[in-house]
Amino acid sequence: MEQYKEYLQSKGISPSYQRLKILEYLDLHRTHPTVDEIYTALLPHIPTLSKTTVYNTLSLFVQEGLATMLVLDNVEARFDITVHPHGHFTCTQCGKVYDIDVTPFVHIPNTIDGHTIQYYQIALKGICKDCASH
Ligand SMILES: [Zn+2]
Ligand SMILES: [Zn+2]
Repeated sequence: MEQYKEYLQSKGISPSYQRLKILEYLDLHRTHPTVDEIYTALLPHIPTLSKTTVYNTLSLFVQEGLATMLVLDNVEARFDITVHPHGHFTCTQCGKVYDIDVTPFVHIPNTIDGHTIQYYQIALKGICKDCASH
């Protein structure tokens, strides 16, 4: 918990208990959880938690560069604590979202047509290795 506290403080975010728990959840569950998933998981530990607090905290994390938000298939937003550029692979059978390293295949320059690239999303779909082996 102490390292999360220092991490938030280093980003200028005051480390409230709720923020620490949400950051910890993202760190321990690198499954690209939705607001609902995080809320449902943390509610037993923080009875005063609201969905709005979860959403606002995640928005703050995204704004401060601690997390990224991804919207796959135009459904619910998912949150990711892995902020270095990477792609996502969604399994069309089980719905799991995997992080994948796309850098060996795709090179995105820092600028294109004079625009500064800060972030990109690459979304791939198919059958994951677990589903394929069943
Ligand atoms: Zn699968
Ligand atoms: Zn990811």
